[in-house]
Amino acid sequence: MVGAAWRSLAEDLERELRNLDPSAVVHPTVDASGLLRLKVVSEVLNRREAGAIARRWQAKAATMCECCGEPDSAVRVAGPDVVTVVCADCDQPVVPASGSERSP
Ligand SMILES: [Zn+2]
Repeated sequence: MVGAAWRSLAEDLERELRNLDPSAVVHPTVDASGLLRLKVVSEVLNRREAGAIARRWQAKAATMCECCGEPDSAVRVAGPDVVTVVCADCDQPVVPASGSERSP
């Protein structure tokens, strides 16, 4: 599951690419280690060009909170060989929506 901020990063990249190729599509996915991967589908850019652009944006995502987009967020270990990139504000345990209210 790709976090909201990472999804909008992929949309920004897609908008930028459409200046070069109006049919360009970007597919955001999360790889096995938990980091953002951007797959660029383009009829104008070749694989090398598309890969270089995607890697630049992936590097940006690697230090950006995947929930809110806060830059310079910490990478945390979420499990064996899996990381998650979140800021301190978003790094909260998941609370059921119907639970009792809690103070900040
Ligand atoms: Zn955040």
